[in-house]
Amino acid sequence: MTSPAAAPKMVHARAPGKINVFLKVGALLEDGYHDVATAYQAVSLGEDVRAYPADDFSVSFGGSIDTSNLATDGSNLAIKAATLLAHKAGYRAGVHLEIEKHVPIAGGMGGGSADAAATLLACDALWGTDLSREELLELATQLGSDVPFAFTGGTAIGTGRGDQLSPALAKGQFQWVLAFADFGMSTPEVYRELDRHRDRHSQDIFPAPTQPQVDANVLQALRAGDPRMLADALYNDLQAPALHLEPQLASVIELGEENGALAGLISGSGPTVAFLAADLDGALELQIALSAAQLTVVRATGPVHGARLIS
Ligand code: ATP
Repeated sequence: MTSPAAAPKMVHARAPGKINVFLKVGALLEDGYHDVATAYQAVSLGEDVRAYPADDFSVSFGGSIDTSNLATDGSNLAIKAATLLAHKAGYRAGVHLEIEKHVPIAGGMGGGSADAAATLLACDALWGTDLSREELLELATQLGSDVPFAFTGGTAIGTGRGDQLSPALAKGQFQWVLAFADFGMSTPEVYRELDRHRDRHSQDIFPAPTQPQVDANVLQALRAGDPRMLADALYNDLQAPALHLEPQLASVIELGEENGALAGLISGSGPTVAFLAADLDGALELQIALSAAQLTVVRATGPVHGARLIS
């Protein structure tokens, strides 16, 4: 551990939000969870975490989105990440975290997971805990299914709960336009709606496999760096239940597709809609058209790297 004299006054880390460009959900398991097969892409919309030495654990939020309703107690994922690391490293003091939030809350883009991943990295450096990358990744897995990916970033396949990662080859940069909603959606509620939908239609649809797989055409599109191929391969099993719960999102997707998006997709469990554009010009035009329709939109590119320290 770093000696007090050498301890830094502040450590700044950044971690990305994500889009699930492919998400297949397996059958409901006995423990109430589902296995998934997903292709994650980390995007340039991310979170900045600054960690300051302190005697106890606290967090404050700023940034481009409204964070006034976010809990800042021990239920906050960033506080959970810091306390878990302190426990693992046997560190006895605390930390004050200042988080600049840009990823919408409960938006399906893994913002809380990004906060947790950046916090692990920042506190590790602030406290000089000397944990290995593997040990930090293990802590990330304990914090939530999407936290390991926020830590590693890039493009990856996630299986199990989404936390068993293997890197995927990806070429070039994809251009996204993200339409935010002015409400959040609960991930467990969207999964429950999917289960209800599958129950209702069990006569007409094939039963979901216990262990779903990522389609080969997604991997091929990512490898080729071809947005048109990727647009054809985008897939999300949570889209239908999310649209069932919030039908107005269907017209957002339609509006984007009418205004030049190659395709629109609910991101994760929603409600953010991710539009894939053919190129930067297409993304700029789409951003203007959706803004004119009074939607809150942000452009992002992907893939980007995972959690890292900013010097
Ligand atoms: P995912 O796509 O990983 O399911 P999400 O992007 O939909 O997640 P998050 O913003 O990561 O959603 O957070 C989901 C819930 O976790 C929120 O409703 C919020 O109450 C709680 N939460 C705890 N800590 C945080 C945090 N630091 N930032 C955002 N939400 C947090």
